[in-house]
Amino acid sequence: MTTYDNRVSQEIAERLDIVDIVAETVKLSRKGNRYWGLCPFHAEKTPSFSVTPERNMFYCFGCHAGGDIFSFVMKRDGLNFREALEMLAARAGIKLVSTGGSREQEQSKKVIEVNQAAAEFYHQMLLSPPGGIVRKYLENRGIKQETVLAYKLGYAPDQWNRLEEYLLQKGFSQEYVKLSGLIKRNENRNSYYDLFRKRLMFPIFQYNGDILGFGGRVLDDTLPKYINTPETELYSKRQVLYGLYQARQAIRSTNEAVLLEGYMDCIKLQQAGINNCVASLGTALTREQARLLCRYTENVLILYDGDEAGQRETLRAIDILAQEALKVQVVTLPAGKDPDDFLEISGKEEFLQYIQNNKFSHIEFKINRYLKEEKTLNLETKVKIVDALKNAINNLKSPIEKDYYVKILAQKLLMEPNLIYRELQVVNKRQNPMDRNKTQISRDNIQYGNYSKDEKILAAMLKDEKTFAAIKGSLGLNFLARSEYKDIINIYDQLKGNQEERLVKLGEIMQQEGMAATYAKIIFLMEEMNVEEAKVNEFIHRVQALKMEARWQKIYQHINFLKVEGDFEHLLKFVLNLDSFLNETREGGI
Ligand SMILES: [Zn+2]
Repeated sequence: MTTYDNRVSQEIAERLDIVDIVAETVKLSRKGNRYWGLCPFHAEKTPSFSVTPERNMFYCFGCHAGGDIFSFVMKRDGLNFREALEMLAARAGIKLVSTGGSREQEQSKKVIEVNQAAAEFYHQMLLSPPGGIVRKYLENRGIKQETVLAYKLGYAPDQWNRLEEYLLQKGFSQEYVKLSGLIKRNENRNSYYDLFRKRLMFPIFQYNGDILGFGGRVLDDTLPKYINTPETELYSKRQVLYGLYQARQAIRSTNEAVLLEGYMDCIKLQQAGINNCVASLGTALTREQARLLCRYTENVLILYDGDEAGQRETLRAIDILAQEALKVQVVTLPAGKDPDDFLEISGKEEFLQYIQNNKFSHIEFKINRYLKEEKTLNLETKVKIVDALKNAINNLKSPIEKDYYVKILAQKLLMEPNLIYRELQVVNKRQNPMDRNKTQISRDNIQYGNYSKDEKILAAMLKDEKTFAAIKGSLGLNFLARSEYKDIINIYDQLKGNQEERLVKLGEIMQQEGMAATYAKIIFLMEEMNVEEAKVNEFIHRVQALKMEARWQKIYQHINFLKVEGDFEHLLKFVLNLDSFLNETREGGI
């Protein structure tokens, strides 16, 4: 058995999310509590590769690869366990005995450290006397102290070299400080100066808590209102969502993300208890950001500014999100209001009420939007609008939904629904490419299909203590045919602690024994099945009947044997001692 420090691996598993690690190489879509994607370990066209964040495990129903976060990187990157441990420890920010990574990894790590230190510097500045001006500003905008701490807001003082001096003094080399983008070169003087000065600072966290860059806002009306860390090796604003680090648990648990435009909107809404918000960092939403959202949820609610620009951006965002197969709803705020203002004016209750009452599906939003754009509703504009909505309606899977929107559209355009249906069919015949490329998750085909009776029983035993006790009491623990399953159930039986603790320990042991994939398969089944489906009682009776039959078979054989020998005395003795013979064979299996 390979041994390693369980404590370290447990800590890593707690800090890292398997969904995040897998999503680096596999495009995952959420479906219920699971994530699905195309398996990186075998070629396939429909996803049969699944990840369960609750158990931190993956399993491929196609090629049966499976295991925990360590198994995944071992298999993906061809690492041994020790190497996987080192790599994931680095990602989780846990120090092991130091080992050299690649140059780029080393560099990113250093730049993150620089950012981390800079965030601390800005934050302390905000909390100390020079930061009074920002604290006043935040107070006026209704930002509470706990929010300042949760988002590690900061203040970049109005000085040219304060941050640089601080970082150099902290022992960072100028090379890494330059790479962080926090200082800029002055060509004339051949020197550097701090990029952010006299600004409210928003550190931009990656999903794992690493700080990749900053946004800085002026405290008055000076322009530009916001500046960001320039695009660096590490930081690309296309690829991050502001607030995701703070919101990700809430997004997972509500299975919805509220998508906003600005830092302030995001912070204010979270402060008001709407915990599942993220912002696209003042840029138009990108595909990368949409993909990032796919890791956490199936549903996005867009809440952009009520002005014309905000509405135009909404339209764009809808298409990007829909391309990633996310379900999109839209709330349009009253003209000229941004979410932050509107929350301020209306108060939390009324704000939430407004959102509830003004949620539209993305198709309804588009219908309304196009109608608003057209001054007159003549034949030409009708054709144009139907044309613009064709794909969106056609991409709906449910015929009921399709029918619903066709009727709404017909009503608004004063047309016959049949005519619109005819238009839709034209698209269908052309087999629009979006539809073809869409990753269909053929989950129903996979569910249960590949599981044997033994596997269902094993899963039921791990899932339900009563079932475990009932089976152990009547059949013992050695009735499963596959030795791996026999091992699983016997090891589980010997583990101490509550069910959850025992499963975690069992998972570790399976990993060490090289049985991670087998274990993952059972865990996936355990998660999705109801214990009743295993039909445990029926199973117990069948096995008992089989055992009984086998025993009688043995008795019969023995009697026959004694008969042939013609030894009456032995035969009599055997019949008289039948009870003990039966007892001996009871544990013997079939
Ligand atoms: Zn596979």
